[in-house]
Amino acid sequence: MNWNRIISLPALLILIAEPAGAAVRPFRVVLDPGHGGADEGTVHTAGGKKTAEKEVTLMLARTVARSLRARGFEVHLTREQDVTMNLSDRTAMANRLKADAFISLHMNATAEGGDPNARGFETYFLNSTTDESSRRLAHFENSVLGGSEVPEIPQAEEGNDVALILKDLRLDANLAESKRLACHLQHQLVQFTATDPAEVVSESPRNRGIRQALFYVLLGADMPAALVEAGFLKHPKDRALVLSADGQAKIAAALTRALERFRLLRGTAQARQVVSNCKVH
Ligand SMILES: [Zn+2]
Repeated sequence: MNWNRIISLPALLILIAEPAGAAVRPFRVVLDPGHGGADEGTVHTAGGKKTAEKEVTLMLARTVARSLRARGFEVHLTREQDVTMNLSDRTAMANRLKADAFISLHMNATAEGGDPNARGFETYFLNSTTDESSRRLAHFENSVLGGSEVPEIPQAEEGNDVALILKDLRLDANLAESKRLACHLQHQLVQFTATDPAEVVSESPRNRGIRQALFYVLLGADMPAALVEAGFLKHPKDRALVLSADGQAKIAAALTRALERFRLLRGTAQARQVVSNCKVH
């Protein structure tokens, strides 16, 4: 029998991919609490009390995970404890789990000579970049244990490495969806954490925008991936937000809402609209 005459090829592929009666699996999110163990990330010390980025990101990830699970998401954390972890192992775990989205959580820090009053959220998706401040931040976030793990920045133009080219192709395929993920995340973070309507505007110092940088922790991801800098640890307002139960709940609600939008619009015309309307800084 010539099946092509009865069933179109795309329809046949769908039948093969999803046998009748197969349960729809929950949307799978891998949350990555940045840093850990010997790699503390950025550190703030005041009145003899030290706050390390690695602790804040783990606290946030746990709160976000609870919020997402309550809304039907399947959630995995790359680390549940204060342990040192390679950047590549974090996305390897997400790839192994065939996650639908990968989000790395971080706290920001001002580079030397930068604005000491800097505050607010930034959300990144992957790209090599010429933007100097993004480059500096990427350099910091990439430098696990003094940079021992960090390879040279791969240059796709020079690459004759087949693996690197294949990786580039996968990145391209995920680029639009990674951008969309970053856009939903940043938008909802700014909305949910505003204390009054004037704070929601795009020019608010709390909204540092959607950006692109070469973060190694995103490089290995085979799925849409974004990195959230959930405020500056040295800024008193940002610090108060991430260290309070109320602030953490707001951030968790924002990320949950963002992932609900991301999940809902997958494959729709509206999704393409989100991408084209979303301004990258
Ligand atoms: Zn970090």
